[in-house]
Amino acid sequence: MLIFVALLFLITMKFEKDLKNIDAFGDDHIGTSSNTPIREDAFKLSNDQKIDVIKDDVRHIMETLGLDLTDDSLNGTPMRVAKMFVNEVFGGLNPENRPKPSTFENKYKYGEMLVEKNITVYSTCEHHLLPIVGKAHVAYISNGTVVGLSKMNRIVDYYAKRPQVQERLTIQVVKELQRVLNTKDVACVIDAKHLCVNSRGIRDVDSSTVTSEFGGKFKNGKTKREFLDYIKLETEF
Ligand SMILES: [Zn+2]
Repeated sequence: MLIFVALLFLITMKFEKDLKNIDAFGDDHIGTSSNTPIREDAFKLSNDQKIDVIKDDVRHIMETLGLDLTDDSLNGTPMRVAKMFVNEVFGGLNPENRPKPSTFENKYKYGEMLVEKNITVYSTCEHHLLPIVGKAHVAYISNGTVVGLSKMNRIVDYYAKRPQVQERLTIQVVKELQRVLNTKDVACVIDAKHLCVNSRGIRDVDSSTVTSEFGGKFKNGKTKREFLDYIKLETEF
């Protein structure tokens, strides 16, 4: 009997420690891998089936919070949120939405770096499911292949539309462009606000997070400096 009680005590202690660790891990925003942790059976359900399940889950959360779902204003929220999760804010989990790699031969022999800056980032913190809003700046040096400019925006948007940590998003954008352009010479800097930091927890409204990933020639100090100087350029349009 005594052994049983002792065992129960130990299990409870471990459970509470695990819970504390989960809280700390999330608020520290530590990521574990450059690949989005996704299960093998992630696409067993169709989008419509997922919406159907999530709709009930959202309803359950709202009802648990004590909300009256018969109110006209709240009635459509579970369905609205479910569609938004599957089709929009987490649409980048679905490989079908990956931007098609339309590349061109670099006919004009432009050999300098190309920078696409101020790409709007709307993502979601995977630890709190709150928005991450910011700007991405992406650059590459062509080794014979070029991409349409909007492709860079689309790649950022695709990887942003997942539950994310900003470091992983930055790396995923670089890796995808390296693959599409067949060169290591790709860089990305992201400057973003995390609403989980700005609106809750520490509630620091002004802070933002900067992450960077420099591949190939961008690891070189001079090339890196040039890229960072272009980002600072403020053109009046
Ligand atoms: Zn967060």
